Amino acid sequence: MSHNATIADMYSGVDFTSLSWIEQQWMSWYLYIGNPILATGLASFLLHELVYFGRCVPWIIIDAIPYFRRWKLQAAKIPSAQEQWSCTKQVLFSHFMVELPVIWLFHPMAEVFGMRTYQVPLPGFREWAPQVAFFFFFEDMFHYFAHQALHYGPLYKHIHKMHHKYSAPFGLAAEYAHPAEVAILGTGTIAGPIIYCAFTSNLHIYSMYIWITLRLFQAIDAHSGYDFPWSLQHWLPFWSGAEHHDFHHMAFTNNFSTSFRWWDRMLGTDDKYREYRARVRAAKAAIKNATKEERDQMEQKLMAEVEAEGVRAEAEVLRGMEKTKVQ
Ligand SMILES: [Zn+2]
Ligand SMILES: [Zn+2]
Repeated sequence: MSHNATIADMYSGVDFTSLSWIEQQWMSWYLYIGNPILATGLASFLLHELVYFGRCVPWIIIDAIPYFRRWKLQAAKIPSAQEQWSCTKQVLFSHFMVELPVIWLFHPMAEVFGMRTYQVPLPGFREWAPQVAFFFFFEDMFHYFAHQALHYGPLYKHIHKMHHKYSAPFGLAAEYAHPAEVAILGTGTIAGPIIYCAFTSNLHIYSMYIWITLRLFQAIDAHSGYDFPWSLQHWLPFWSGAEHHDFHHMAFTNNFSTSFRWWDRMLGTDDKYREYRARVRAAKAAIKNATKEERDQMEQKLMAEVEAEGVRAEAEVLRGMEKTKVQ
């Protein structure tokens, strides 16, 4: 591609009529914007914003309807409108200040490794599905170890503490985090595609868009605070879901991964979580004839215990830091 080549030149020889509807839209977008770097950057950022807030809207509505409380994991903690608004402002700030530059820089960087952007045709299911599966696996592994590191004293106090502001998270809080955390954990999301591209030189940004969309759904749903009978973890037992990550926020420990349960399971960082689940199950079985209120009360009591333990554990991490300072 010469420097003087226009986007129209780049598409010379492409038979527009042979393309699918989505490929035609893709090509039209690049022709409309005229500059491929601008077109890619804009589309990527807009996709991120639309998917993020678009996915949060149903959870905001669900939080406003008391009927859904029966599936809320920490039913006593419904986020207020004011809480949701202040969370949104912080999320928007980090989207523009941290994610926008990273998203913008990602494409030229990935293109160096051979990623396709404006080109048509787009990859089909058989091409993108294994790529997206690899990105899920890689991100989950990266996040597991990086997230544990963020629970270490100084990193916790200065960076990760912010994300733990909500002991009962809600959808919007998925990306409520310190800018440094957004950058650190965001690496897990974009390093997978870059590594994949570096080794295979075969990646279209279209696969990346599918990955980002699914990853945002995963993160927002994991923070939603709701466990429905139809939630994915009931169909895929290794899927984390809200039930897994909600415990991390409530108990301040265990369950460090994002999408899957296997790292926590294999490395034993889900012991307290499983013990808690067993206690709830046993207590529920023991009071089978109790009323719904009695059962709810019992669950609230167990939750309060776990949360109090979490508050103590958090204080200990912060206290550990004080000691290091004194020495
Ligand atoms: Zn954490
Ligand atoms: Zn979280």
